[in-house]
Amino acid sequence: MNNLWTATADPPRHRDPLDHDLDVDVVIVGGGYTGLWTAYYLRRANPNATIAVIDQAHVGFGASGRNGGWCSAIFPVGPRKLAQMHGHEQATALRLAMQDAVDEVGAVAAAEGMQIDFAKGGCVTLARNPAQLARARADIESARGYGIGEQDLRLLSRDEARSITGAEGVLGGIYTPHCAALHPGRLVRQLSERVERAGVAIYEQTAARSIAPGLVATEHGRIRAQVVVRATEGYTARLPGWRRSLLPIYSLMIATEPLPDAAWEEIGLRGRETFTDHRHLRIYGQRTADGRLAFGGRGAPYHFGSAIRPAFDADARIHAGLESLLAELFPVVAGHAITHAWGGPLAIARDWHPSVGLDRTTGIAWAGGYVGDGVATANLAGQTLSDLILGRRSDLTALPWVNHRSRRWEPEPLRWLGVNGGLQLVATADREEARSGKPARSARTLARLLGY
Ligand SMILES: Cc1cc2nc3c(=O)[nH]c(=O)nc-3n(C[C@H](O)[C@H](O)[C@H](O)COP(=O)(O)OP(=O)(O)OC[C@H]3O[C@@H](n4cnc5c(N)ncnc54)[C@H](O)[C@@H]3O)c2cc1C
Repeated sequence: MNNLWTATADPPRHRDPLDHDLDVDVVIVGGGYTGLWTAYYLRRANPNATIAVIDQAHVGFGASGRNGGWCSAIFPVGPRKLAQMHGHEQATALRLAMQDAVDEVGAVAAAEGMQIDFAKGGCVTLARNPAQLARARADIESARGYGIGEQDLRLLSRDEARSITGAEGVLGGIYTPHCAALHPGRLVRQLSERVERAGVAIYEQTAARSIAPGLVATEHGRIRAQVVVRATEGYTARLPGWRRSLLPIYSLMIATEPLPDAAWEEIGLRGRETFTDHRHLRIYGQRTADGRLAFGGRGAPYHFGSAIRPAFDADARIHAGLESLLAELFPVVAGHAITHAWGGPLAIARDWHPSVGLDRTTGIAWAGGYVGDGVATANLAGQTLSDLILGRRSDLTALPWVNHRSRRWEPEPLRWLGVNGGLQLVATADREEARSGKPARSARTLARLLGY
């Protein structure tokens, strides 16, 4: 079984590897959303800029071709922590910029004639036990304290939640309009074509062996550039000099066959609202434009030494767990085939704080550490990197995630022990809460450990 988005996107364009030395203004390492949006906005702002994008495999090989297709305004650092770190005004500016980025993705897709199945139906976070319901209420109360009003986030009664989706065991939930469902594979492939048409050179099967000021070394050629952009997200730990900067964590997904109308009568999600619940270990789903449920979750173990291997894209235990959880949420799905199962690495900085930036002394720029919320965030990063590289001060370059530096992850074996221990704690907390309905003690411990 393979990746739904690869199987249902337009046929891929195969591009040649780099086989010579190159001189450009900007070289971008990584052909995912971050790299491609950066190339898109840079070239639009300066049509004379010479830009090359390289990818070790192909465009959309990474998380950008594998994700849940939530184009959401979620920033992995919550409003309380953001306000503590950067002040209320800055935190609000970032929240609004994220909301704008959701619309920007849809607007560019429409303007560029990209068919990416974009539907802005919002997101519903269900509460399915009393502990989750208490967390939903607390989230709303806390949000109000940070100026987040009813129009941006609202509490749903049981009946309101059930009018959006007929998921089992729903006690209530919260709803935000700031999320769209889209087809990730179509977005990444079509964006790459628009970028190429605008005059950007894309080289596939071209791995950067090292990134240094003004120079990217690849197997068959050296690329000299004034600015080098690192857009390598979950694969960053493989690069010399960045081994402990971002932690790769696998998220896994499944998808059903297209479901009949009768099933959709029960499931709902008529506006293609994305859905999750209030558990600690994130699950996420969407109703696809061709009538499937695409559903994913975290929980796969962290691999020693930040290893990444094709074999880790599939984990029979996690995929089976997702299948039974989906059937628990929507019993009507149980009789239908799971046609696709896949996964891939996302990236987490030590303080869970994404960042975008340009070091003017070295000419090295970067963006990433989006945790599992990079679809809209990478668009914001691309717009911001364009401004930074062109030396333009803007509202975007003043946002508090710009040039944010996270400390490095611990060396092994501490990293492996800490991360997998944390994952166990979170999974146990969810099980405890499902059983007892009471907020789990271990969850509170974890929240303290993570600093939230
Ligand atoms: C299963 C899954 C589900 C997710 N669901 C969602 C979701 O629903 N919503 C959301 O907002 N986010 C989601 N995410 C996260 C989101 O997909 C990512 O944050 C986002 O795609 C990151 O884009 P990127 O371009 O920075 O990285 P990537 O898409 O990972 O791209 C990095 C690229 O760099 C290339 N590369 C790496 N190293 C080198 C090198 N040395 N030389 C050359 N090329 C290199 C890789 O081949 C890759 O193509 C999910 C992630 C996963 C894995």
